Amino acid sequence: MKEELSERISQLQQQLGQGKIGRRDFLRGATLLGLSLGVAEALAACAPKPTPTPTAGFQAFIPETDNIVPTPPGGAITVPTYTAGPEPTPAAEVGPSPTPTPRKKITWLCAACGERFQTLETLKRHAAEEHGWQLPAITRIDEPTYSQFLVGGVERFDEKNTVFSRTVWDEKYKALLLEATAKAPEDDIQAIEGRALVAGAIYVDDTAGTLHPNYYGYMGHVNDAGGLYGWDDPVNPTQFLVPDPAWMSDRIKEVARLYGANLVGICELDQRWVYSHYFERATGNYGQLEIPYKYAVIIGIEMDWKGINESPGLEASAATALAYSQMAELSASLAKYIRALGYPAIPCGNDTAQSIPLAIDAGLGELGRNGLLISPEYGPRQRICKVLTDLPLQPDQPIDFGMRSYCETCHICAKVCPANAIRWEDRTTETTSISNRPGILRWPVDVARCYLFWRENGNDCSNCVAVCPWALHTQRDWLEG
Ligand code: SF4
Ligand code: SF4
Repeated sequence: MKEELSERISQLQQQLGQGKIGRRDFLRGATLLGLSLGVAEALAACAPKPTPTPTAGFQAFIPETDNIVPTPPGGAITVPTYTAGPEPTPAAEVGPSPTPTPRKKITWLCAACGERFQTLETLKRHAAEEHGWQLPAITRIDEPTYSQFLVGGVERFDEKNTVFSRTVWDEKYKALLLEATAKAPEDDIQAIEGRALVAGAIYVDDTAGTLHPNYYGYMGHVNDAGGLYGWDDPVNPTQFLVPDPAWMSDRIKEVARLYGANLVGICELDQRWVYSHYFERATGNYGQLEIPYKYAVIIGIEMDWKGINESPGLEASAATALAYSQMAELSASLAKYIRALGYPAIPCGNDTAQSIPLAIDAGLGELGRNGLLISPEYGPRQRICKVLTDLPLQPDQPIDFGMRSYCETCHICAKVCPANAIRWEDRTTETTSISNRPGILRWPVDVARCYLFWRENGNDCSNCVAVCPWALHTQRDWLEG
């Protein structure tokens, strides 16, 4: 066992040294193996340093004039210098030039009728003209459509039981994750570009979420760590007097759209959807959670269609990652706007409260078989963030556009799920693990299996988003008409 552990650690050190994984990935991997953070950091520090590999055919060009940097009054600054690596070794033998592979022609498939189109625009026009009439009517309703499926009292859910939190404390699950990770295919040379694409897309979330050393993307709020998901930004002591909550609601939707939101809705903050306890994966801090605010502004961010359609590949991961960066940026900007108006506001990603029931309450969509929010505009192809506040607002009504019966006959997501994590049969009150909330008659997604597949795959998966027929639609013009 000891040998196995030390072999695994030395593999991680080698990967770190070769630049195949970053320091955070190393720390994550080492802590999953059961090491304390301090020991993991010490091991990271003694990993072999990466050796720069010369890139054949590439010469860095730095014009001399660009290298002249004026010395500022405050003192000298150091200009990074470029040191050329060793000359690349010429190939021993030059063979015949390779025949260029013809570029694959991309066509766009209409999920409703199967017809293919040369451009996205022609597909969109076709969908609106040919299939728009088939869309069921959307109506505003008093109670969200999940209400009829609530069985008995619904207890608040503990964030510690989410599948991502379990990667930190659930030893049995961690062992399964290690096994799954070991099955992940080795990255080939092509993957370098894909990983770079994801790194750029998640950059805002990963680094600006907070300056906490153990923070990485997707974590949301970490106490006393500041950053975009921080709660401690001061509230303006001079309060803007809201003339009318309905006016303020329209205005906040305009502002959210200006900041980049694709969908915005408002609901009262139903305390059943606020986590009973928070769990910070970065620190292990755990405690009771009480959010006294009255409203939630819910924001939907569209994920790139073309990217998501590449699931479970890295292009889809990049589309997801980019939306995570946008969530952090957008919820922080909107919370700042509200605080500057003189009202408290906390920006949230997936943390603090469950986004999907709140989004349904706010009229953004309904719950699908795949466990995701299905909106009339994007189906499941959006990410959700939210701002919790006491700013006087007027809530929206939930909507009904027939997803309950649609998902009863459509099983596409269940069919394509590589982890067999989406239920094919009728709704049930059974749960698949502690990561499902009890008390709801629905199609429970086996999120623990889902995440094991992500580890085996080497990156995440969005198959159940990509294939949903509702992911095609992009207009809401017909909502109120
Ligand atoms: S993300 Fe992939 S593995 Fe997870 S439920 Fe969806 S299709 Fe299945
Ligand atoms: S793929 Fe079909 S069953 Fe799955 S969420 Fe979409 S509409 Fe519902």
